[in-house]
Amino acid sequence: AAKERGKGGHFVYVPGMTTRIVAHAELGARLRDAIDAGQLYLQYQPIVRLDDGRTVGTEALVRWRHPELGTIPPGDFIPAAEQTGLVVPLGRFVMREACAQQARWRRELGAAAPSYVSVNVAGRQLTDPDFVGDVLAALADADLDPIHLTIEVTETAVVDEAAIAALQQLRDSSVRIALDDFGTAASSLGLLLTCPVTALKLDRSFVSEITTVARQEAVATAVIRMAQALDLDTVAEGIETEPQARMLRHLGYRYGQGYLYSKPLAPEDLAERSRTPAPAFAGLAVRH
Ligand code: C2E
Ligand code: MG
Ligand code: MG
Ligand code: MG
Repeated sequence: AAKERGKGGHFVYVPGMTTRIVAHAELGARLRDAIDAGQLYLQYQPIVRLDDGRTVGTEALVRWRHPELGTIPPGDFIPAAEQTGLVVPLGRFVMREACAQQARWRRELGAAAPSYVSVNVAGRQLTDPDFVGDVLAALADADLDPIHLTIEVTETAVVDEAAIAALQQLRDSSVRIALDDFGTAASSLGLLLTCPVTALKLDRSFVSEITTVARQEAVATAVIRMAQALDLDTVAEGIETEPQARMLRHLGYRYGQGYLYSKPLAPEDLAERSRTPAPAFAGLAVRH
């Protein structure tokens, strides 16, 4: 613990540190208080069209503004929230907030608004009996058409038939379903037959070295071929360099997200970016 205290005894945040705090039985109460105290907030990362850099959607990503520890990333508290079940109220907050924000952008930006917001949902949420009703209520209360919402689930989150049934009900209401971190879990392919998936998000572990590691390129190629055969959208995650983007476009990927285009943004910065008529990456359009 000493090394987590800076000179002068100030508490210094170390990534991963909260995972250890979380192990403490007290975290449940802390996170619940955090929701009530308004310490959780969302940032939105643009999802862009790879041919012209235009923002087509955003992914909502939760952060915890902790009074002493500063901003804590979700990787440090979502796993614990899943274990304690707190991810259910947390996820309800995220869903309501993201739908309200997407509706606000549509009112403020009109045609320049991103066309959808994509919200991460944990397995523990999918099996909650109130989940479908909560999502539909969030949409209705925000006055947002369900076509403007995508739900992101990982392959491991879709644990049983109840989870698939919940996704099917939402899909029947025109919500779209993306498989997040695609390719990193074991059960991916069977899910494409049983789950009403509309998009695959290629995990960034297949993008990081795509220009130099032949096996990454081979996996990315296999995924896009399969997605095209199944008529699914594809989003490549974690694009950090132009050569990666060029390779992904060449392979047929149409959408992507990553630091090359933008980090996750506050809502007002996302609005500002959407208002700008010429996207920063317009010059990168592929010329055949
Ligand atoms: P994810 O859903 O795969 O989200 C993408 C993560 O990659 C985000 O991290 C994002 O900031 C990061 N990222 C984006 N572009 C790049 C890039 O170019 N390079 C690198 N290295 N990273 C990039 P973040 O925000 O820390 O979120 C981590 C994970 O936490 C998410 O992974 C998701 O699984 C989970 N998460 C975030 N928000 C929520 C939420 O509201 N509910 C639930 N259940 N899980 C959430
Ligand atoms: Mg995601
Ligand atoms: Mg992801
Ligand atoms: Mg990922």
